[in-house]
Amino acid sequence: MPRVILVDDSASVRAILGEKLRAEGFDVIDVADAVTGAERALASPPSVVITDLWMPGISGVQLCRLLRAEPATAHVPVVLLTASDDRKSRFWARSAGAIAYVTKTRIDDLLSVLRELTRDALTAPPNVPRAGLLGTIHERLSQLLDAALYESIIAGEVRALAQHDGDARRLFADLVKLAADVVSYRWLALGLDGDVKMFLHTCPAARAIVDVEARRALNIDADAPAVVLEDERALEGRYGAPLVAKVSFGANKVGILAMGAGPRGASRDDETFLRLVATELGGPLRMLALVEDARRLAATDTLTSLMNRRAFVDAMLRERSRADRHLYPISILLLDVDHFKKVNDTRGHAAGDVVLKGVAEVLMRIARKSDLVARWGGEEFVIALTQTGETGARIAAERVRRAIAESVHTLADGESISVTASVGLASAQPLWTVDDLVTRADEAMYSAKSRGRNRVEVA
Ligand code: GH3
Ligand code: MG
Ligand code: MG
Repeated sequence: MPRVILVDDSASVRAILGEKLRAEGFDVIDVADAVTGAERALASPPSVVITDLWMPGISGVQLCRLLRAEPATAHVPVVLLTASDDRKSRFWARSAGAIAYVTKTRIDDLLSVLRELTRDALTAPPNVPRAGLLGTIHERLSQLLDAALYESIIAGEVRALAQHDGDARRLFADLVKLAADVVSYRWLALGLDGDVKMFLHTCPAARAIVDVEARRALNIDADAPAVVLEDERALEGRYGAPLVAKVSFGANKVGILAMGAGPRGASRDDETFLRLVATELGGPLRMLALVEDARRLAATDTLTSLMNRRAFVDAMLRERSRADRHLYPISILLLDVDHFKKVNDTRGHAAGDVVLKGVAEVLMRIARKSDLVARWGGEEFVIALTQTGETGARIAAERVRRAIAESVHTLADGESISVTASVGLASAQPLWTVDDLVTRADEAMYSAKSRGRNRVEVA
């Protein structure tokens, strides 16, 4: 006979329901409060626990949580009973892990749920070591509540890491701030698939060893770009195998989290913390990738994949403050393809696009890594030659002009075509501005046009 523990503070409910259930063949133990119900269930786990949702003292929701958390009763289904059907009660019942939620007026529903639950009856409890409850029911409940609160606070803090404006360093610095408040560790590392492959927090003294350890844990190459945060919040000392957790968003892996535990090795708290962070970090990391993608797209010219004008101007403003600080020279070349309209008119717009892409490739090939190459608009391109004065820039400009003129672009129909470009060069003068530099280069470029094209003129 399936055993049922029925918990309800109302004597009449216990009497009426108890009678119905017994008539249906259940062995019913009815008790008036959750503490007694918990004690009986833990002492000898029944097939089902049916409990009133709201009772004075410990509620049915709390009882349900407790039974789910105790190894001896984790397998026992709990049915929550309530006087009325309202959404909030339903929500609490679900979040407490109840198997069903039934209103007291619908006894037929209750019976069919019970029949369903006890159909494969004789649900002999699995062989769980019946460890006695640590402390009283009240103490155990408050421990459970503390643990749930801790988890939800950490989860909330990790989710708040989404407020990073697309700045991965800031996200990692905020994560470190949270982690260092909660757990003790030697190092914490986040592996991402962006430009920077690893973010690492370590104490300065252990940096070299930790760098190797963390890369191994994240499975990242020794020379992959990393950002390292060094301070004393990370402990010194060594060893203990690292904890590693995958960070996912939906079905996709978006990162890896690894932690080198403190000198005494990883504790249960360290594991809980890392698991919680890994579970919640997927959203913020996905957000980070989206913002980075959007930013990259907004800065890129779609046809040539070069920087667009706006990104170039932004980069130049940064260059200017650097050039000012160090008194570096800087020069720019503004190029305009000659008679480009004719390419479009005679070979078609698609052919024009092929040529523009080809010119962009030439420029990227010729430019140094530190130069900035951008599509200024239409068939005009701009190159900033950093740390280059007029003498060097003249040589570079001539090289660019020649490389464009000597390039052959193969069109879709197999035909090939070559173009030339007119180049205006301007070198920065004291107190220069980006606008002024571009204007002077533009004037020089127009003078190259009027002097016959396919040539360099200096502002
Ligand atoms: P000049 O030697 O004086 O520079 O003559 P041009 O024909 O190159 O100058 P113009 O400014 O009259 O023509 C530029 C042409 O570039 C006009 C425009 O339709 C074309 N163009 C601008 N952007 C693109 C593009 O993205 N693709 C293609 N195929 N053509 C473009
Ligand atoms: Mg033009
Ligand atoms: Mg042109």
